[in-house]
Amino acid sequence: MLVVDGEYMRPLIAANWKMHGDMDWTDKPSQFEELLPASKREGVEVLICPPFPLIALLKDAADKASIHIGAQNCHAEVKGAHTGEVNAELLASVGAKYIIVGHSERRAQGESHADVKAKAEAVHRAGLIPIICVGETLTQRKAARTHTIVKNMLLGSMPEDSENVVIAYEPVWAIGTGETASAAEIVEVHMLIRELIGPNIRILYGGSVKPTNAEEILSIPNVNGALIGGAGLEMTSLAEIARFAI
Ligand code: PEP
Repeated sequence: MLVVDGEYMRPLIAANWKMHGDMDWTDKPSQFEELLPASKREGVEVLICPPFPLIALLKDAADKASIHIGAQNCHAEVKGAHTGEVNAELLASVGAKYIIVGHSERRAQGESHADVKAKAEAVHRAGLIPIICVGETLTQRKAARTHTIVKNMLLGSMPEDSENVVIAYEPVWAIGTGETASAAEIVEVHMLIRELIGPNIRILYGGSVKPTNAEEILSIPNVNGALIGGAGLEMTSLAEIARFAI
């Protein structure tokens, strides 16, 4: 349990919808509320990060269900000739509270640590909270480089205000594959991250979290929530996972 300034810091259960969803998905927050009413989940914070156009459309329903809305990415600058990009200020104005930065699917497209850091700074500039993703590939793990890789990624991606962030450890080989890191692997890396960032920051685990493994994962020391892809698309599974975090 994370306690900051005498206050209990709730675990964060965050669904990353990636490129899934359409206009019919705007009732997902109310579906979630029916499955797990806000009055029964005061001990957990729930976040949905839909594709950009759905942020504004989901906001009202999310507010009614006491669910936060976030984005999956942003541009580092406030404005400019950046076709197809969205700035953090606009995301804040349509209702985002968190923005995921440095997801491995974006790092794989060439985002550097410095790019991720600049995005995390932009998220702060807009008054929001970055969820900074770090994690090793299978090749790096097999070469026993996990600690070095995670450390460099983390330190290279941290914004100036390093207190007001959430970190997500997501081993790349466990994302969308059905593979999960073992409890021992998660303990080790979360401990490393804790030593690097200090006591007050939530560290999420991500990588094929689902109702069948969530109880074990969420009870591991220094796991303060989960970043969930596939199992976050259905409210039944998201609610089941959130129940384990309460
Ligand atoms: C993710 O994309 O961040 C993720 C963890 O996906 P999944 O849960 O599907 O592995």
